[in-house]
Amino acid sequence: MMIACPYCHQDYVWEVSISDLSGPFFMCFECDTVWPASGGISDQKGQNYSDFMAQRGRTPDWNTITKIRPANKGS
Ligand SMILES: [Zn+2]
Repeated sequence: MMIACPYCHQDYVWEVSISDLSGPFFMCFECDTVWPASGGISDQKGQNYSDFMAQRGRTPDWNTITKIRPANKGS
């Protein structure tokens, strides 16, 4: 079962990889929220993609994001 974004409820959450960062991560492409895979997908743990990258000293660049598969409950 796919997981709807707990913030915007507009899209499903995807498992993604981001170049040079050790992931995987989860991401909502509607509201640009990122979750580290370890923390779980909740409305407490997400972070805006721009802030997420800035915190790691990187420039937000959509070309570095690769969709892997829709996140699934229980995986
Ligand atoms: Zn969202």
